[in-house]
Formats: sequence, structure tokens, C-alpha cells
Amino acid sequence: MDTQLQKVYDQVLRRNPGEVEFHQAVKEVFDSLGPVLRKRPEYVEGAVLSRICEPERQIIFRVPWVDDAGRVRINRGFRVEYSSVLGPYKGGLRFHPSVYLGIIKFLGFEQIFKNSLTGMPIGGAKGGADFDPHSASEAEVMRFCQSFMTELYRHLGEHTDVPAGDIGVGGREIGYLFGQYKRITNRHESGVLTGKGLTWGGSLVRTEATGYGVVYFVNEMMQEIGRSLEGARVAVSGSGNVAIYAIEKAQQLGATVVACSDSSGYVVDERGIDVELLKHVKEVERERIRCYADRRDSAVFSDRGSIWQVPVEVALPCATQNELREEDARALVANRVAVVAEGANMPCTPAATAVLQEAGVNFAPGKASNAGGVATSALEMQQNAARDSWGFAETDAKLQEIMHDIHDRCAGTAEEYGQPGNYILGANIAGFTKVADAVIAMGVV
Ligand code: NDP
Repeated sequence: MDTQLQKVYDQVLRRNPGEVEFHQAVKEVFDSLGPVLRKRPEYVEGAVLSRICEPERQIIFRVPWVDDAGRVRINRGFRVEYSSVLGPYKGGLRFHPSVYLGIIKFLGFEQIFKNSLTGMPIGGAKGGADFDPHSASEAEVMRFCQSFMTELYRHLGEHTDVPAGDIGVGGREIGYLFGQYKRITNRHESGVLTGKGLTWGGSLVRTEATGYGVVYFVNEMMQEIGRSLEGARVAVSGSGNVAIYAIEKAQQLGATVVACSDSSGYVVDERGIDVELLKHVKEVERERIRCYADRRDSAVFSDRGSIWQVPVEVALPCATQNELREEDARALVANRVAVVAEGANMPCTPAATAVLQEAGVNFAPGKASNAGGVATSALEMQQNAARDSWGFAETDAKLQEIMHDIHDRCAGTAEEYGQPGNYILGANIAGFTKVADAVIAMGVV
């Protein structure tokens, strides 16, 4: 790492002790920025990096609620409003027991550059709570969401901060959160949350957008190397929102998705994942992935080894951070994987990414390849502002165009900096320079 960058990175380590995921996300971006700082000394003089690494505002709050047995339960809620230079704070909410400040800060930091790459006027933020919706009843989830919003609402607004979903926060949770916001404020302010239901301000394609967007991005990468998704074998980790729609779109484009997973294990289905059955098992029954294999003759469940040992040409990690490790990357390389694109945020460890890059695998970082979700959230905000709603085909066409542009922005920047095909470098530099220029333009605020 360049000495200027190392100085700021040391400062980040000192000021944010123990937040290992945040450190990892900062390092991943800084590792790309050396050439930019040499070209643009004003970024160093203006202390742009130190300013970007310090969130504009960090909110931590108590979330008290009462469970079905009448016991008082306490969780911790977070909203880290990172950067509003490009637009209102924008980024999802994650409800998962592993949530702590370091995870929210890594996600918020990534979000700044991802949102910048989309070309839409949105700043970066992330939030959530250490709450586990999987182990709560429907009524408990509702009470939790209401309590969470009772504190958070004062920090939100369509021009201020606009959350959406993430792990553990889907359409059901967004509904409860929006209902409580509306009740407290007495405003039907559609633009305050995205991922809403279609009858009350939601956008067509938002549900599908992250997964579809990943596959649109992969399609561009495949074309670049003279290959196609048609007939390709694909593995997708996870079986949540991102994974399900990545599987659906990959198969629509002629690929066969032979494996998917959840945190209990993975299934291999040589006939190709039956996406309707998967949706039923995961979204209607809210069951474990083993149930998919129980209902389909061609599928086998395993809770040993790793999904990444399955031979595929395209690997899409769509579950969670640091799920694809060095040994997984080695297995993929041994099986001659051609493309790895991150659907989740930071699913590949730094060691795994290094193995893939050294082996010449085409690799797309999440801040580029999974940006379709937040981009479509911004399209939802546009529809809300205009009190309009667009059709599926129109919105999907906009998503495709956005993913095409992100791809070209990353590929073009990598080429400009002498590293064609390096999507990590391209995404980090293209995302960063736009934010850095806006930081300088707005003075020391
Ligand atoms: P969901 O909660 O809908 O799904 C997450 C899935 O990942 C579940 O199937 C979960 O299984 C599985 N999972 C979690 N940990 C592991 C693990 N260690 N190994 C295998 N599977 C695991 O979340 P999303 O699909 O919304 O989000 C997935 C990722 O995509 C996250 O990193 C998120 O930040 C990112 N992302 C999401 C966007 C969105 O629009 N939703 C936008 C951009 C990025 P289980 O049920 O067992 O926990």
C-alpha cells in the first residue's frame, strides 16, 4: 500500500478497534487507490480519504420489545449514515444475530462507492439490528419492526435517509417498518423506504433486481471474453432474495444452475435448480434447503464440504461476507471456473480473491456486480417522487442499461489505469473519484 494510504489506514485501525470487517473493506478499496493519489494530489491535500472513512453520523439505539411469552427483550439497532455528498443516505437494513457496528460500517463504506457507480443521485448508509427474524414468530417480527422504527423514524426522510432491505429484511419487514413510520409521522411518504409492496409505492423489478443485475453484469463479462451464459454450468450460494433471482435469470439466459445453499448446507441438482420449488421452500414455507432435496429426485443435499467444490464455469457467491475462502477459490480454479461475480457484499476473503486473480479468473466485486438492487431502489424513489409506476419491461430495461453502464465504467477505468480486465481496480477507482470530487467541491463540512 502507498505510504499516504497506509497512514490513513493505520488511523482507521486505531480509531475503529475490533471492527475487522470494516478494516477489510477499507483495505480492499485502498489497495486500488495508489495510482489515483499520484494523479490527483488534491485528494491527499484535502484529506479526502480520512473524511470518507469517518461516517457523517453513527446512530446506535436500544430496541425494546415484548416476546410472545411476555418477556422483555432488548436488541441493539444501528444506522450508519456514511456519506451524503451524492444524494440522500441510501442503503439497506440487516437483521441478523451477527450484526454489530463493524459489519454495519463495512456495508455502509462499500455502499458509498457502489451507489456512486450506479450513476444515480444517492449517498451511502447501512443499518440493522442483532435481531434474528428466523427465530421469531410473525407477531414478534412485527413488534420488533415497530419498536425499531419508533427510534429510527426521526433520522429518516425522502431527502435525508432512505433505507431498504438486506439479510433478514424482506418485503414483510419493510411493510411493518413503513406502517410504523406512517403512523408516527402521519405522512404517507413513499420515498422514505424502498422495497415496498407493489400496491403501496413499490417498484416492479425491485425484488428481482439484485439477482437479475448480477447476471446482467456476468453476461457482459462473458461477452468480453468471447463466451456466453448459454449452456454454462453455474453455482449460486445462498437461497435468499439475491440468490433466488440470480438463479432465475441465469436459467432464463440458458445456463444450468446446478447448486445453491443456505447456512445449513448445499444442494446439487444436475437437472438445474427448480426455482419455483426453491421459492416455495424458502419464501413460503421458510424451510431449510434440505427440504428442497427431499422433494426433488435429481437433487442431493450435503452438509459437508463446500458448494464451491462443485465443478462450474460461473460461480456467484450470493449469501454473506467471507463465505468463499482461499481453499474454495483453489477448488474453483482447479475446476477451471471462468467467472466469479459477487452477489453478496464482500463474500470472498482477500486470500480467495488473490487466488482467483492470480489464476486469471474474471472477477467482479460486489460493489459493481450487485449494484442493481440499489439502482432499482433509486428507480423506485424516482417513481415515488413523480407519483408514477412503470411497467416491468420498462424497469427491467433500465436495470439492464444501468448494469451495462456500470460494467463499462469499471472496464473502461481499469483500462485507463493500465490494468484491463481488473474489475476490482476499475470499480474502486471509478466509484471513489466521483465521491472524492464531490467532497472537495462541497468544502470542509
Ligand atoms: P437473505 O436474507 O434473503 O438471504 C441470505 C441467504 O444467505 C440465506 O439463504 C441464508 O441462509 C444464506 N446464508 C447466510 N449465511 C450463509 C453461509 N455462511 N453459507 C451459506 N449460506 C448462507 O439476504 P439477501 O439475499 O438479501 O442478501 C444476501 C447478500 O447480498 C448479503 O451479503 C447482502 O448484503 C447482499 N446484497 C443484498 C441486496 C438486496 O437487494 N437484498 C443488495 C446488494 C447486496 P439462512 O437462511 O440459513 O441464514
